[in-house]
Amino acid sequence: MGFALGLIELAKEQRGLRRRLTLLPLALCPGLLALCSSMTFKDFFKRQIMVARVYGIPVRIDYRWFLIFALSVLLIASNLHKSTLQLVTFRLPPTDVLSAWILGIITTLALFLSVFGHELSHALMGLAEGIEIEEIVLHPFGGLARLRTQPDSPRAEFRIAVAGPAASFLFSLIGFVGAKLGAMAGSNSVVAVCFFVGAGNLLLAVFNLFPGYPLDGGRVLRAIIWKRSGSIRDATRIAGFCGQLMSLVLIAFGVYMALAPTFHAYFMGLWSVLVGVFLLGAATNVVRSARAPSLVGDVMGPPIAIEPDLLISRFIDEVLPLHRQTSFPVAHDHRLLGILSLEDLKKVPRSEWRNRRARDVMRSVNSSLFISESAPVATARQVMQRNGVGALAVIADSGKLVGYLRRGRVARNNKDS
Ligand SMILES: [Zn+2]
Repeated sequence: MGFALGLIELAKEQRGLRRRLTLLPLALCPGLLALCSSMTFKDFFKRQIMVARVYGIPVRIDYRWFLIFALSVLLIASNLHKSTLQLVTFRLPPTDVLSAWILGIITTLALFLSVFGHELSHALMGLAEGIEIEEIVLHPFGGLARLRTQPDSPRAEFRIAVAGPAASFLFSLIGFVGAKLGAMAGSNSVVAVCFFVGAGNLLLAVFNLFPGYPLDGGRVLRAIIWKRSGSIRDATRIAGFCGQLMSLVLIAFGVYMALAPTFHAYFMGLWSVLVGVFLLGAATNVVRSARAPSLVGDVMGPPIAIEPDLLISRFIDEVLPLHRQTSFPVAHDHRLLGILSLEDLKKVPRSEWRNRRARDVMRSVNSSLFISESAPVATARQVMQRNGVGALAVIADSGKLVGYLRRGRVARNNKDS
């Protein structure tokens, strides 16, 4: 969470164009990591404490976040105390120590709340799109809204991705208007806090719109490519590649900032390198996962299961009109018993429909009728071609029926993935 630190540089550099490059928006929201995110990410975010529940969403704080919080307060306070800051047209004279600390704390709190607001708006848009939200995490590099599942359409992806930067732009506007009002009222403290909030949120919005996955801008890029090409896999690969490129630029930029004699901005350089490394890892994982063969669990549909005791007449009158598919898993208490196919049903005379039940007509479960959700899709396709049903029940490790795979559906999904 370095943007408070970046802001100090922003305020300082107003004094001389020579140091213009120190303006580096550092806070990021490395996107909305869905379940597919890698283990390294999970490890990275492991040590957290839960601080609140908002709209039922757990809000957690990474313990390293407190370190950055303290650092941010320290930097803002020492700058407010020691330097005259030129905030665009407003000149802020040095403040006394106590005020500097209080303003440092208020400003940092407001900035961190803004990051939370950014993540919350991703999360709320996710909820509006029907996606469950696992948690919101505030970590040293910014924030993260973790979704339980991936958005299922480019439109949903786009809306969830832009919700965060949109909130940041709004906070930024509020901050700048507040600073303007503070200046009119002659209150230095209001100007300082509001200006930092305005500028911080502007940086947050702009930086996160960089078109490299997993930043929000990369998500937007992915949604656009997904919409145009129809392939989420290609879209993810391209957006992830842009993310890798962007990370390398950040790392190179950081090294240059630290070493170039004109700048010697060690802290900014180091931070830029850290953020670059962090993003590079994330983007590389995304690209790798887009290359990996897809698994049955990724492409299966929900199981429209029927009870073994269901009368065929009721099945034909009540189930079939609602679900246009040529076979159905037969299960009781999530245990797969067999598959009922319309092909087999044709052999049953109409007069028998009122007497026969699903269990009488179904193909009893055997190894060619089900597959594990962690099996590769290619394997599933081979089994389906041979089993005479053209479909497969999907079983979790616990033995429970969790999905259903149909041939046409896999072909379509495979094109997509
Ligand atoms: Zn975001």
